[in-house]
Amino acid sequence: MAESLILIEHDRQQVKRPSLHAITLAQQLGGNYALLVVGHGLDGIAASLVSYGASAVVVADDPALAEPLADRYAMVIAEAARRLGAKTILGTSSTFSKDVLPRAAALLDAPMVTDVIAIEKMDGSISYRRPINAGSMFANVKVEGDRRVLTVRATAFEPPAANAAPCPISHFDFDAASLPNGMQFISREERRSDRPDLTEARVVVSGGRPLKDKETFERLVGRLADALGGAIGATRAAVDAGMAPNDYQIGQTGKIIAPELYIALGISGAIQHLAGIKDSRIIVAINKDPDAPIFQMATYALVGDLYQIVPQLIESIRRA
Ligand SMILES: Cc1cc2nc3c(=O)[nH]c(=O)nc-3n(C[C@H](O)[C@H](O)[C@H](O)COP(=O)(O)OP(=O)(O)OC[C@H]3O[C@@H](n4cnc5c(N)ncnc54)[C@H](O)[C@@H]3O)c2cc1C
Repeated sequence: MAESLILIEHDRQQVKRPSLHAITLAQQLGGNYALLVVGHGLDGIAASLVSYGASAVVVADDPALAEPLADRYAMVIAEAARRLGAKTILGTSSTFSKDVLPRAAALLDAPMVTDVIAIEKMDGSISYRRPINAGSMFANVKVEGDRRVLTVRATAFEPPAANAAPCPISHFDFDAASLPNGMQFISREERRSDRPDLTEARVVVSGGRPLKDKETFERLVGRLADALGGAIGATRAAVDAGMAPNDYQIGQTGKIIAPELYIALGISGAIQHLAGIKDSRIIVAINKDPDAPIFQMATYALVGDLYQIVPQLIESIRRA
């Protein structure tokens, strides 16, 4: 039995660290919690999870789960939640969870609250705080019923400590033949990069529409990011123009980040972009328009042409 069941994401080699932040919310909710890992060939990943204070690491490991097909994963998650008697099913706000968890919620006939950033306990019940209208307002939401599915914004919760006594690893037995076959895996395109993951990076350099094309984007945004050991981000305008892949997009319909340093190159500061960078500690903006809205949020503002400033910046960082 577990009060909460936390879906842990991984890339087959290792755990995706932002998904661990959901553990912190489970700890705030109270009661014991189990960690669920779904996939195939998960021994190493399961072993890396035993010290987070969970009652168990529950492993659903089967060749039928080797690829993250949402209909199969959702069924396994829902079944695991039922068997463990979990009241709260938690995941991190990510592309993966957007695909999988609403289906699990539907199978459980449970309400779902996404992008939770805090909880408030009032008169014995809990409300979940989440941003609305691209983060310009917040809503406190209560849900009915015994069971609920939540996703948390990793940036709003500290990473959990991994210093508890090891918990058991239990294998979740299920009939793989009964899993749905509505979707079939065809192929996977993976981009290997030596750069840090956008949602975990301490430094993020982002580019906007004036970067013109892929090569220019890489030459300026990519090189500045490399000089600082950072990750690359982009606005939706840059992604739509094909300068950067869409998993670089930051904002309301992209990724939410919280680096120590965020550098915005040629970015106007539309509310939908700002929604993704609000939690950055220091924001540096380079824009040739002194009235660009990004400057209202920037810690340091550089008014000027990025084509002149960025090469000089890269050169001086390299020389330093
Ligand atoms: C429902 C919805 C969801 C959206 N979600 C997102 C999202 O998740 N993320 C996102 O980013 N956007 C999102 N958008 C789009 C958003 O509204 C803006 O259109 C977008 O962020 C603008 O991108 P930009 O700043 O690159 O381009 P622009 O707004 O065109 O700004 C370019 C900036 O570069 C400056 N500039 C031009 N040349 C130079 C130069 N040589 N040197 C220095 N500065 C220069 C200009 O002064 C300008 O400020 C969304 C929109 C909608 C409607």
